[in-house]
Amino acid sequence: MSLLYRVTGNPIKHSLSPRIHAHFAQVTGEPIEYTAQLEEAETFTDNLRRQLTSGEILGSNVTLPFKELAWALAEVRTARAETAGAANTLWLNDAGQICADNTDGIGLLTDLKNNLGLELENRRVLILGAGGAVRGVIQPMLDAGVTEVIIANRSVERAQAIVDIFPGAPLKAISYAEITGPAFDLIVNGTSASIGGELPPVPDAAIDANTCGYDMMYGATKTPFCEWCEAHNARAIDGLGMLVEQAAESFFIWRGVKPETAAILAELRSELQP
Ligand code: NDP
Repeated sequence: MSLLYRVTGNPIKHSLSPRIHAHFAQVTGEPIEYTAQLEEAETFTDNLRRQLTSGEILGSNVTLPFKELAWALAEVRTARAETAGAANTLWLNDAGQICADNTDGIGLLTDLKNNLGLELENRRVLILGAGGAVRGVIQPMLDAGVTEVIIANRSVERAQAIVDIFPGAPLKAISYAEITGPAFDLIVNGTSASIGGELPPVPDAAIDANTCGYDMMYGATKTPFCEWCEAHNARAIDGLGMLVEQAAESFFIWRGVKPETAAILAELRSELQP
């Protein structure tokens, strides 16, 4: 039987996931193969359904821009995928049903807590953006015991739609112009602004030297958001650890083994140093 897994997206050429999963396979002894697959929106759903139900692949990670399609394709969704409205991990259960999970949120939380030693209990958090990645982050944030989460987005309705999913939770949706001090303990940039080399219009009142800034984006060069954090003498972290931790969670779902992540994270980090 094929032990093939893959990551499906568009573009996909520069994905680090095959490398991360090859490392996990090696350290756990799980004999899997993991490849990157370029897909088109028109064929994504049919191809993934066929590949999974025929046993051609045992599972797939799904990345931009197909996370919503992956969610819609699934017949069974975990609670965190259901809430997120977007899925990054697909597999077939014993009953032959396509299952979906979203491991992005738990990936971020694991990076913050385990890798960076950040205490989230009783902390005030500002989240920038209201896309699929942010949707997946809210429940684990609340579970971690934060005092409040403010979600700022260009289109406030999108942020409000997330707040509405969690009635009674300490959440608020606002515009960037409405962001005021005091400075937040943690600011998470969950926008895709960094991809275009832009900083979301977040006012300086939101940050001071005690703030920790986390950009979900990662790359060889510092993002404008990380530069903005450093300009305020705040800690600045990129999303490489989130990437590795969401991958570890997917691996665990598929193989029932939780791989150790420190070595591959350190290896990728050293290669990405400018
Ligand atoms: P979506 O396309 O679903 O959402 C994009 C969000 O960014 C929207 O809220 C949008 O606002 C906002 N936005 C885009 N451009 C700007 C800008 N110039 N200024 C302010 N806001 C902007 O993307 P995802 O949620 O899937 O991903 C968001 C980011 O997180 C990406 O950079 C992605 O690479 C990263 N990511 C990283 C992961 C990791 O493992 N490290 C995992 C998942 C995502 P509006 O609604 O107003 O248009």
